[in-house]
Amino acid sequence: MRVLLYEMRPAKMTPAHHTGDLAELVCSNSMKGKALPSAPALLKAELASLGSMILRTAGETSLPAGTALAVDRKAFSKAVTRAVAGHPLVELVRQERRDLEDDRPMIVATGPLTSTAMESALGTVVGGDSLYFYDAAAPLVEAASVDMSVAFAASRYGKGNADYVNCPMSEREYQAFHAALLEGDRVIAKQFEDRELFSACQPVEEIAQRGVDALRYGPMKPVGLTDPRTGRRPYAVVQLRRDNSSGTVYNMVGFQTNLKWPAQERVFRMIPGLGRAEFLRFGVMHRNTYVDSPRALTSTLALKARPYVHLAGQLTGSEGYLEAAATGVVAALNVYAAVGGLQPVVLPPTTGIGSLVGYLHQGGETAFQPHHANLGLLPPLARSVRQKRARHEALASRALADMAAYLEVRPDLRVRGFRGPS
Ligand SMILES: Cc1cc2nc3c(=O)[nH]c(=O)nc-3n(C[C@H](O)[C@H](O)[C@H](O)COP(=O)(O)OP(=O)(O)OC[C@H]3O[C@@H](n4cnc5c(N)ncnc54)[C@H](O)[C@@H]3O)c2cc1C
Repeated sequence: MRVLLYEMRPAKMTPAHHTGDLAELVCSNSMKGKALPSAPALLKAELASLGSMILRTAGETSLPAGTALAVDRKAFSKAVTRAVAGHPLVELVRQERRDLEDDRPMIVATGPLTSTAMESALGTVVGGDSLYFYDAAAPLVEAASVDMSVAFAASRYGKGNADYVNCPMSEREYQAFHAALLEGDRVIAKQFEDRELFSACQPVEEIAQRGVDALRYGPMKPVGLTDPRTGRRPYAVVQLRRDNSSGTVYNMVGFQTNLKWPAQERVFRMIPGLGRAEFLRFGVMHRNTYVDSPRALTSTLALKARPYVHLAGQLTGSEGYLEAAATGVVAALNVYAAVGGLQPVVLPPTTGIGSLVGYLHQGGETAFQPHHANLGLLPPLARSVRQKRARHEALASRALADMAAYLEVRPDLRVRGFRGPS
């Protein structure tokens, strides 16, 4: 299909990009692990089966990085730019796109730093309360990695079902935790992430700074809870709440944070019950434009209010380079299917990409938060497997088998592969 591709750089830059090249990696040059059964490796295997040009180019420009796929960022974005700009069917327009008015199908992938004009165009279509401008999220923990011989399920004052998992702390544990929170390295806000963005949602380390008891009277208050191991009220608690309907992922309630990821891992592992926790996503607080996908998007990543406009990348509430590539492929295949009168492309929910898009479309149990692909989004196995590695292996093999079976029944989608000029 003929494509007009708008890119506003270099004429108009974002606060994070430095060049005019396409697919510029704004921060890390890593596309994460290659070794199955991790979620990033699963995403790579599935992207390869869908003919992803981004993944292929990453492979062609990779650097030695152990089991991770790291790329030479310059060579990578130059190769993507050459392939796109030189493709006979693609016309690259170096101009800001300011509206969604078009009677041709459109994919909007303007990213976390979308220009203001496009933000307001999107806001008009999805409704201002379905478009977010920053991301303040608490860490997510794999439910199976919580030590339930220490943590206990209960709601405050026994109200409703025992919907929360409580990690109880003694006075000594609390004081050590409080001190570690204050010492943890923080992300320095970039100039486009000014303090105003954070006023609605205080990071946990800022609350801790107000005084040693501030957290105990805030998100860590222990009232209405009895620790079954001691028969007493804990000194403080960290509460975990289900984050997806299958209960495989928990959210750390009220723990939005600006600590650096290694500090989060070290400090949050001090919480009783989380000593061996698997963090599926660390807390973040940064500028990020994305829509409330469960409200705004269909299962094919089209805007409910404009079915001919699809979203891809970070705008969909996905997060990460590979996730952007994955949602890009799903949006592109669906435009191709819609124009060609083919069935919509909804990948099985048991695949890595299908589970990510399913999460974007359906949301979780709590308010919508952006997500990396992770194995916690996959539906549980038919039989429970306790050992973590064996469970992840079984999830990954099921995903790959289901993706292969899906492509088998959709020969119309056999992507010929994107070939740039040699
Ligand atoms: C500071 C920062 C650091 C990050 N670090 C990482 C990291 O280390 N690892 C990781 O996996 N992810 C990281 N991310 C997230 C990362 O940006 C995304 O994972 C990925 O780049 C999203 O892809 P995208 O296509 O949605 O957006 P982008 O890669 O940002 O691409 C959007 C493109 O749209 C262009 N554009 C914007 N508005 C318009 C318009 N109106 N008209 C025309 N063009 C427009 C922009 O110039 C840009 O080229 C980071 C994000 C930020 C902001």
